[in-house]
Order: sequence, then structure tokens, then C-alpha cells
Amino acid sequence: MKTLTKVLLTSVAVALLAVKWNAPTFNAEILQGARVLVTGASTGIGEQMAYHYAKFGSQIVITARREQVLHQVAEKCLSLGAQKALYIAADMSSDSDPDRVVDFALDQLGGLDYLVLNHIGPSPFNMWEGDIQHVEWLMKVNFLSYAQMAWKALPSLEQSKGSLVVVSSLLGKVTSPFVAPYTSTKFALNGFFGALNHELAMKSSNVTITTCTLGLIDTDSAMEKIKNVSHVPAYPASEAALNIIMTGATRERELFYPWYTYIITLIKDFFPATRDYVMQKSYNYSP
Ligand code: NAP
Repeated sequence: MKTLTKVLLTSVAVALLAVKWNAPTFNAEILQGARVLVTGASTGIGEQMAYHYAKFGSQIVITARREQVLHQVAEKCLSLGAQKALYIAADMSSDSDPDRVVDFALDQLGGLDYLVLNHIGPSPFNMWEGDIQHVEWLMKVNFLSYAQMAWKALPSLEQSKGSLVVVSSLLGKVTSPFVAPYTSTKFALNGFFGALNHELAMKSSNVTITTCTLGLIDTDSAMEKIKNVSHVPAYPASEAALNIIMTGATRERELFYPWYTYIITLIKDFFPATRDYVMQKSYNYSP
């Protein structure tokens, strides 16, 4: 093995161990009675987060567009042990719904300890063919509504020494074909909340921001998109959801789930041409 490869592998192993050892211990009791708002909670990772918070005995508000599905998720949360489980149907592409949802949660729960921003609008998985209206719409749903809700919730989070949890993606760190609008929204999230994190620290704010870098997770929407084109292994949504909650509760700055997302983030700029080649070859595509 070449010396450079050995040095690289050793550095990655040391970095992984350092992250593991330095991770604060999760204490489930702090989530008992915690006031939580989870967006995009009618299905997928958001739904799984709602169930975990419920088992920890939290007070939850969930939101998404489909009221009937939210009703069912909220009922299940109550049966799993949630102190409260309320829902509000909202469309994050509207100008007013992001504020309306935060106001509802503040009114119903008397404040917020966690704001978990997780929703995404549906987006096609194909080569970009110039649909600029879709990019604009998706930016509104996946990015602008996050900034709007964060701003609305910050005063309450400041009072409660709360946390803002932003669910992002490896595709917010590395670009990939077929997802130009989606990856743009995730890069925007990482830039915006990275800057906000600096500003909160400089103001000695009580609020922490946790940004979550996720790899492929086995939700129905993700599996439907990549079937027939990619064989990257998908990790379980319930485990991803639990990791997000634990990282938010321990007030860590970043979550990388699963483990390989951390390594890719570390080494992605070492050999750009190789990275791009591997990324393009990981999809079944013939023009
Ligand atoms: P998902 O299953 O597609 O769920 C998306 C959620 O957003 C649903 O609850 C959906 O409910 C809601 N939603 C869609 N459009 C909306 C709108 N206009 N206004 C309000 N809510 C809307 O997504 P997921 O796979 O669980 O992903 C959750 C998070 O993880 C996302 O931030 C995603 O980027 C991130 N992530 C996922 C993967 C993966 O492989 N799954 C990988 C990396 C990162 P309604 O249809 O009822 O509105």
C-alpha cells in the first residue's frame, strides 16, 4: 500500500474515533415533556421522529399537507406515550403557512424546546430540462420556509435554551446528477444555517443548531426515485430518525448518518476528478 493511502486511511480512522469518543452522552429524560415541532411528519423520517419523541414522552406538534394522515400519526403518537400530539395541515410553499405553523405550536405548547425542520417537496429524479419554476418552488419549500420558521421560533428557543434541528443531506455537501433542484436547496440550507450558527455563537445565544447530513434512507419516496438506477445501500428511517433526535438533544453541531457520509465529506475534495467519475458511474444511465 502506498504511503499516502496509509496516511489517508489512518487519518480517517483517527477522525472517526475522535468523533465517537467526543460525542456527549444522550440522556432520554430531557425529552420527557419537551415541546417539539416536527415538519414533514406525515411520512418517512419525520413520521419516525414523531414516534420516537412520543416514546420519550414529549409534547409534539406535527405538520405536513395531508390532514388525514397527520391525524393518524398523531393518534399513534398518543398511543406510544406522547404527553401531547397535535397536528396542523400546512403547505410550506405558501407565504404565510410557515409562520402559522410556528404560531400554532407556540400557542398550543406554550413555547418550543425543539424545532425540527425536515419537510421536502416532491422533486423529479432526472436530468434537468430547464424547469426554472420548479427550482423556484422547491427553494421556497425546502429552504425559504426553513429560514422563515427558524426566525419565527428563535425568541422562544432562546428563552427555553432550545435547539434547532435541520435535516439536510450528503447532497448538500457533494453534488450528484439527476437532482439539481434538490441538491441546490440542501446546499442553501447548509450555507444559511452554517452562517446563522456563527452569528448565534457570536451573540452568545442559548440556541444550538444541529445540521444533519444523511445518506440514502429507505423511505418510500427515496426508494421509488432510485429504483432501477442505483444500488447504493439504504439505511433504516427509524434509525436515522433516532440519530437525528439524539444529536439534537445532545446539542451537537452536526450529525453524519450513516457513517460513510462523514468519510465522504472529509475526503470529497482530495481527488475531484475521481469523485465525479465514481458519482457518475454509480448510476445506471445510457444516453
Ligand atoms: P418524504 O418521505 O418524502 O417526506 C416528506 C414530508 O414532507 C412528508 O411528510 C410530506 O407530507 C411533507 N411535504 C411535502 N411537500 C410539502 C409541502 N409543500 N409543505 C409541507 N410539507 C410537505 O421525505 P424523507 O425521505 O423522509 O426525507 C426527510 C428529510 O430527510 C428531508 O429533509 C430529506 O432531504 C432528508 N434526506 C432524506 C434522504 C433519504 O434517502 N430518504 C437522504 C438524505 C436526506 P405531505 O405529502 O403530507 O405534505
